[in-house]
Amino acid sequence: MISSLQDGSEFPVSPSGAIIEVTFGVQNKSALELLDGLGLFRRAGFYNNLPGRGLSLNQMGKLALRCFGVGDGWPCADRNHASFLYRFDQVSILVDCGEPVSSSYKASGLPYDAIDRIFISHLHFDHIAGFFMLMQGFWLEQRKKTLPVHLPAAGIKPFGQLLNAAMVFKELLQFRLRFEGLRAGKAVVTRGVRVVPYRSSHLAQLKKAFQKKYPQRFDSFSFLIEAGRVRIGHSADLGRPEDLEPLLKKPLDLLVCELAHFKAEDLFRYLKRRDIKRIVFVHLTRPYWENLQKTRQLAAKMLPGIPCSFPRDNEEITI
Ligand SMILES: [Zn+2]
Repeated sequence: MISSLQDGSEFPVSPSGAIIEVTFGVQNKSALELLDGLGLFRRAGFYNNLPGRGLSLNQMGKLALRCFGVGDGWPCADRNHASFLYRFDQVSILVDCGEPVSSSYKASGLPYDAIDRIFISHLHFDHIAGFFMLMQGFWLEQRKKTLPVHLPAAGIKPFGQLLNAAMVFKELLQFRLRFEGLRAGKAVVTRGVRVVPYRSSHLAQLKKAFQKKYPQRFDSFSFLIEAGRVRIGHSADLGRPEDLEPLLKKPLDLLVCELAHFKAEDLFRYLKRRDIKRIVFVHLTRPYWENLQKTRQLAAKMLPGIPCSFPRDNEEITI
Protein backbone atom coordinates (compact mmCIF):
# COMPACT_ATOMS: atom_id res chain seq x y z
CA MET A 1 0.00 0.00 0.00
CA ILE A 2 1.12 3.50 -0.74
CA SER A 3 -0.22 6.29 1.34
CA SER A 4 0.00 9.62 -0.35
CA LEU A 5 -0.05 13.00 1.26
CA GLN A 6 -0.62 15.91 -1.05
CA ASP A 7 -0.05 18.18 1.87
CA GLY A 8 3.56 17.51 2.70
CA SER A 9 3.37 19.23 6.07
CA GLU A 10 3.68 15.96 7.94
CA PHE A 11 5.76 12.93 7.17
CA PRO A 12 4.17 9.96 8.87
CA VAL A 13 5.74 6.56 8.89
CA SER A 14 3.37 3.68 8.29
CA PRO A 15 3.01 1.21 11.16
CA SER A 16 4.88 -1.42 9.19
CA GLY A 17 7.47 1.13 8.16
CA ALA A 18 7.08 -0.25 4.66
CA ILE A 19 6.09 2.21 1.96
CA ILE A 20 5.21 5.77 2.48
CA GLU A 21 4.87 8.34 -0.17
CA VAL A 22 5.07 11.97 0.71
CA THR A 23 4.44 14.57 -1.89
CA PHE A 24 5.88 18.01 -1.95
CA GLY A 25 3.74 20.40 -3.90
CA VAL A 26 4.32 22.33 -7.06
CA GLN A 27 4.69 25.88 -8.02
CA ASN A 28 4.16 29.18 -6.41
CA LYS A 29 5.14 31.74 -9.00
CA SER A 30 4.92 34.72 -6.73
CA ALA A 31 7.37 33.23 -4.26
CA LEU A 32 9.76 32.44 -7.08
CA GLU A 33 9.40 35.86 -8.59
CA LEU A 34 10.05 37.42 -5.21
CA LEU A 35 13.23 35.38 -4.82
CA ASP A 36 14.28 36.25 -8.34
CA GLY A 37 13.86 39.89 -7.45
CA LEU A 38 16.19 39.33 -4.53
CA GLY A 39 18.70 37.72 -6.85
CA LEU A 40 18.45 34.43 -5.02
CA PHE A 41 17.96 32.27 -8.02
CA ARG A 42 18.87 32.22 -11.66
CA ARG A 43 16.75 31.41 -14.61
CA ALA A 44 16.87 27.82 -15.75
CA GLY A 45 19.58 27.08 -18.26
CA PHE A 46 21.67 30.17 -17.53
CA TYR A 47 24.68 28.21 -16.34
CA ASN A 48 23.90 25.18 -18.46
CA ASN A 49 24.54 27.19 -21.58
CA LEU A 50 28.10 28.04 -20.68
CA PRO A 51 30.30 26.80 -23.51
CA GLY A 52 32.51 23.77 -23.09
CA ARG A 53 30.89 22.41 -19.98
CA GLY A 54 28.18 20.23 -21.44
CA LEU A 55 28.14 16.49 -21.84
CA SER A 56 26.19 15.26 -24.77
CA LEU A 57 23.59 12.83 -23.59
CA ASN A 58 24.60 9.25 -23.93
CA GLN A 59 26.55 9.71 -27.13
CA MET A 60 28.33 6.45 -27.26
CA GLY A 61 26.34 3.47 -26.13
CA LYS A 62 23.38 2.04 -24.36
CA LEU A 63 24.56 3.30 -21.03
CA ALA A 64 26.72 6.13 -19.78
CA LEU A 65 27.64 5.83 -16.11
CA ARG A 66 28.91 9.04 -14.58
CA CYS A 67 30.80 8.39 -11.34
CA PHE A 68 30.28 11.62 -9.42
CA GLY A 69 31.99 10.26 -6.33
CA VAL A 70 34.17 7.21 -5.85
CA GLY A 71 35.31 7.93 -2.27
CA ASP A 72 34.51 5.81 0.77
CA GLY A 73 32.88 6.84 4.04
CA TRP A 74 35.99 8.43 5.57
CA PRO A 75 36.65 12.10 5.09
CA CYS A 76 38.32 12.25 1.69
CA ALA A 77 40.54 15.09 0.50
CA ASP A 78 41.01 13.50 -2.89
CA ARG A 79 37.66 11.91 -3.69
CA ASN A 80 33.98 12.81 -3.58
CA HIS A 81 31.47 10.67 -1.75
CA ALA A 82 29.21 8.08 -3.34
CA SER A 83 26.98 9.24 -6.19
CA PHE A 84 26.44 7.60 -9.57
CA LEU A 85 24.35 8.69 -12.53
CA TYR A 86 23.17 5.97 -14.89
CA ARG A 87 22.03 7.44 -18.21
CA PHE A 88 20.23 5.15 -20.60
CA ASP A 89 18.74 6.26 -23.92
CA GLN A 90 15.51 7.51 -22.42
CA VAL A 91 15.96 7.27 -18.67
CA SER A 92 18.45 8.61 -16.12
CA ILE A 93 18.67 7.51 -12.55
CA LEU A 94 20.90 8.78 -9.79
CA VAL A 95 22.09 6.28 -7.20
CA ASP A 96 23.10 7.89 -3.90
CA CYS A 97 23.80 11.52 -3.16
CA GLY A 98 27.13 11.78 -1.39
CA GLU A 99 28.52 15.29 -1.26
CA PRO A 100 29.31 17.36 -3.28
CA VAL A 101 26.89 15.97 -5.85
CA SER A 102 25.23 19.33 -6.46
CA SER A 103 28.54 20.83 -7.50
CA SER A 104 29.48 17.83 -9.64
CA TYR A 105 26.08 17.87 -11.27
CA LYS A 106 26.41 21.55 -12.08
CA ALA A 107 29.83 20.97 -13.59
CA SER A 108 28.44 18.18 -15.79
CA GLY A 109 26.26 20.71 -17.59
CA LEU A 110 23.39 18.25 -17.69
CA PRO A 111 19.89 19.74 -17.65
CA TYR A 112 18.12 19.86 -14.31
CA ASP A 113 15.21 17.80 -15.59
CA ALA A 114 17.46 14.98 -16.77
CA ILE A 115 17.19 12.81 -13.67
CA ASP A 116 14.07 10.64 -13.62
CA ARG A 117 14.51 9.08 -10.19
CA ILE A 118 16.89 9.04 -7.26
CA PHE A 119 17.70 5.88 -5.32
CA ILE A 120 19.33 6.08 -1.90
CA SER A 121 20.96 2.81 -0.81
CA HIS A 122 21.15 3.61 2.92
CA LEU A 123 21.26 6.58 5.23
CA HIS A 124 24.95 6.97 6.04
CA PHE A 125 26.04 10.50 5.29
CA ASP A 126 28.55 9.54 2.62
CA HIS A 127 25.47 8.48 0.62
CA ILE A 128 22.96 11.21 1.52
CA ALA A 129 24.71 14.39 2.63
CA GLY A 130 24.66 15.91 -0.85
CA PHE A 131 20.93 15.33 -1.28
CA PHE A 132 19.84 18.52 0.43
CA MET A 133 22.03 20.88 -1.59
CA LEU A 134 20.98 18.99 -4.70
CA MET A 135 17.33 19.76 -3.85
CA GLN A 136 18.15 23.42 -3.23
CA GLY A 137 19.84 23.38 -6.63
CA PHE A 138 16.81 21.77 -8.26
CA TRP A 139 14.66 24.50 -6.75
CA LEU A 140 16.87 27.39 -7.82
CA GLU A 141 17.51 25.94 -11.28
CA GLN A 142 13.75 25.48 -11.65
CA ARG A 143 13.48 21.80 -12.21
CA LYS A 144 9.99 21.03 -13.48
CA LYS A 145 9.71 17.26 -13.68
CA THR A 146 8.28 15.22 -10.80
CA LEU A 147 11.11 13.63 -8.83
CA PRO A 148 10.49 10.33 -7.07
CA VAL A 149 13.14 9.59 -4.44
CA HIS A 150 13.37 5.98 -3.31
CA LEU A 151 15.05 5.53 0.04
CA PRO A 152 14.97 3.50 3.23
CA ALA A 153 11.65 4.32 4.89
CA ALA A 154 13.38 5.54 8.06
CA GLY A 155 14.70 8.50 6.08
CA ILE A 156 11.40 9.83 4.77
CA LYS A 157 10.27 11.79 7.80
CA PRO A 158 13.67 13.34 8.67
CA PHE A 159 14.39 14.20 5.03
CA GLY A 160 11.12 16.13 4.85
CA GLN A 161 11.76 17.81 8.19
CA LEU A 162 15.25 18.90 7.20
CA LEU A 163 14.03 20.34 3.89
CA ASN A 164 11.44 22.32 5.83
CA ALA A 165 13.95 23.43 8.48
CA ALA A 166 16.24 24.59 5.69
CA MET A 167 13.31 26.49 4.18
CA VAL A 168 13.35 24.55 0.95
CA PHE A 169 9.57 24.51 1.18
CA LYS A 170 7.36 22.56 -1.19
CA GLU A 171 5.71 25.85 -2.18
CA LEU A 172 9.01 27.07 -3.61
CA LEU A 173 9.55 24.04 -5.79
CA GLN A 174 8.32 23.97 -9.36
CA PHE A 175 8.50 20.21 -9.31
CA ARG A 176 6.82 17.60 -7.22
CA LEU A 177 9.20 15.82 -4.86
CA ARG A 178 7.95 12.44 -3.80
CA PHE A 179 9.52 10.10 -1.27
CA GLU A 180 8.94 6.37 -1.43
CA GLY A 181 10.26 3.69 0.93
CA LEU A 182 12.35 1.01 -0.74
CA ARG A 183 11.10 -2.53 -0.48
CA ALA A 184 13.40 -5.48 -1.05
CA GLY A 185 12.55 -7.33 -4.26
CA LYS A 186 10.00 -4.76 -5.40
CA ALA A 187 10.88 -3.41 -8.84
CA VAL A 188 10.62 0.27 -9.71
CA VAL A 189 10.08 0.64 -13.46
CA THR A 190 10.65 3.76 -15.54
CA ARG A 191 9.98 3.51 -19.27
CA GLY A 192 11.58 0.11 -19.59
CA VAL A 193 14.35 0.59 -17.02
CA ARG A 194 13.79 -1.67 -14.03
CA VAL A 195 15.49 -1.16 -10.67
CA VAL A 196 15.15 -3.89 -8.05
CA PRO A 197 16.50 -3.25 -4.53
CA TYR A 198 17.99 -6.17 -2.59
CA ARG A 199 18.83 -6.10 1.06
CA SER A 200 22.50 -6.05 2.01
CA SER A 201 23.95 -6.87 5.42
CA HIS A 202 26.00 -3.64 5.53
CA LEU A 203 24.25 -2.38 8.67
CA ALA A 204 23.72 -5.75 10.37
CA GLN A 205 26.40 -5.20 13.03
CA LEU A 206 25.15 -1.74 13.88
CA LYS A 207 21.63 -3.08 14.05
CA LYS A 208 22.67 -5.75 16.51
CA ALA A 209 24.45 -3.25 18.71
CA PHE A 210 21.99 -0.35 18.60
CA GLN A 211 18.53 -1.37 17.53
CA LYS A 212 17.29 -1.71 21.09
CA LYS A 213 18.12 1.88 21.85
CA TYR A 214 17.41 3.19 18.35
CA PRO A 215 14.47 1.14 17.10
CA GLN A 216 14.72 1.73 13.39
CA ARG A 217 15.15 -0.66 10.52
CA PHE A 218 18.82 -0.25 9.64
CA ASP A 219 17.99 -0.84 5.97
CA SER A 220 20.70 -1.02 3.35
CA PHE A 221 20.18 -2.01 -0.27
CA SER A 222 22.02 -3.06 -3.40
CA PHE A 223 20.36 -2.55 -6.78
CA LEU A 224 19.86 -4.65 -9.87
CA ILE A 225 19.27 -2.36 -12.84
CA GLU A 226 17.87 -3.81 -16.05
CA ALA A 227 17.35 -1.93 -19.31
CA GLY A 228 16.27 -4.15 -22.15
CA ARG A 229 18.82 -6.93 -22.18
CA VAL A 230 21.43 -4.95 -20.30
CA ARG A 231 21.84 -6.07 -16.67
CA ILE A 232 23.80 -4.02 -14.17
CA GLY A 233 24.53 -4.70 -10.53
CA HIS A 234 25.20 -1.78 -8.19
CA SER A 235 26.47 -3.05 -4.86
CA ALA A 236 26.32 0.18 -2.83
CA ASP A 237 27.72 -0.76 0.62
CA LEU A 238 27.84 -4.43 1.54
CA GLY A 239 28.37 -6.39 4.72
CA ARG A 240 30.06 -9.28 2.91
CA PRO A 241 30.64 -10.30 -0.71
CA GLU A 242 27.82 -12.87 -0.50
CA ASP A 243 25.33 -9.98 -0.34
CA LEU A 244 25.84 -9.78 -4.12
CA GLU A 245 24.24 -13.19 -4.68
CA PRO A 246 20.81 -11.95 -5.85
CA LEU A 247 22.48 -9.66 -8.40
CA LEU A 248 24.56 -12.50 -9.81
CA LYS A 249 21.81 -15.02 -10.40
CA LYS A 250 21.98 -14.18 -14.09
CA PRO A 251 24.92 -12.82 -16.13
CA LEU A 252 25.78 -9.15 -15.60
CA ASP A 253 26.99 -6.74 -18.26
CA LEU A 254 28.39 -4.49 -15.57
CA LEU A 255 28.98 -4.72 -11.84
CA VAL A 256 29.68 -1.51 -9.94
CA CYS A 257 31.11 -2.78 -6.70
CA GLU A 258 32.36 -1.28 -3.48
CA LEU A 259 35.71 -2.27 -2.00
CA ALA A 260 35.69 -0.98 1.55
CA HIS A 261 34.12 -3.49 3.91
CA PHE A 262 36.13 -6.65 3.35
CA LYS A 263 39.47 -7.75 2.08
CA ALA A 264 40.03 -7.33 -1.64
CA GLU A 265 41.17 -10.95 -1.83
CA ASP A 266 37.89 -12.18 -0.35
CA LEU A 267 35.82 -10.15 -2.81
CA PHE A 268 37.91 -11.09 -5.83
CA ARG A 269 37.79 -14.76 -4.83
CA TYR A 270 34.02 -14.52 -4.58
CA LEU A 271 33.71 -12.83 -7.98
CA LYS A 272 36.17 -15.08 -9.78
CA ARG A 273 34.64 -17.02 -12.65
CA ARG A 274 31.30 -15.29 -12.26
CA ASP A 275 29.49 -14.37 -15.44
CA ILE A 276 30.27 -10.64 -15.39
CA LYS A 277 31.38 -8.74 -18.49
CA ARG A 278 32.97 -5.84 -16.68
CA ILE A 279 33.56 -4.69 -13.11
CA VAL A 280 33.96 -1.12 -11.93
CA PHE A 281 35.37 -0.90 -8.42
CA VAL A 282 34.44 2.16 -6.36
CA HIS A 283 34.30 3.21 -2.70
CA LEU A 284 37.81 1.84 -2.14
CA THR A 285 38.98 1.98 1.42
CA ARG A 286 42.01 4.22 1.77
CA PRO A 287 44.81 1.62 1.75
CA TYR A 288 43.45 0.14 -1.49
CA TRP A 289 43.09 3.60 -3.04
CA GLU A 290 46.54 4.74 -1.96
CA ASN A 291 48.04 1.59 -3.42
CA LEU A 292 45.88 1.60 -6.53
CA GLN A 293 48.52 0.03 -8.72
CA LYS A 294 48.77 -2.95 -6.38
CA THR A 295 44.99 -3.22 -6.11
CA ARG A 296 44.70 -3.22 -9.90
CA GLN A 297 47.34 -5.91 -10.22
CA LEU A 298 45.62 -8.09 -7.65
CA ALA A 299 42.29 -7.72 -9.48
CA ALA A 300 43.91 -8.57 -12.82
CA LYS A 301 45.54 -11.63 -11.28
CA MET A 302 42.52 -12.92 -9.36
CA LEU A 303 39.83 -12.02 -11.91
CA PRO A 304 41.28 -13.23 -15.19
CA GLY A 305 39.01 -12.58 -18.14
CA ILE A 306 36.97 -9.88 -16.43
CA PRO A 307 38.02 -6.33 -17.37
CA CYS A 308 38.17 -4.26 -14.18
CA SER A 309 38.41 -0.53 -13.81
CA PHE A 310 38.92 1.87 -10.93
CA PRO A 311 37.49 5.22 -12.03
CA ARG A 312 38.24 8.60 -10.55
CA ASP A 313 35.59 11.18 -9.68
CA ASN A 314 33.46 12.37 -12.60
CA GLU A 315 34.81 9.74 -14.93
CA GLU A 316 32.23 8.45 -17.38
CA ILE A 317 31.99 4.81 -18.34
CA THR A 318 30.00 3.67 -21.35
CA ILE A 319 28.83 0.25 -22.35
ZN1 LIG B 1 29.52 4.20 2.17
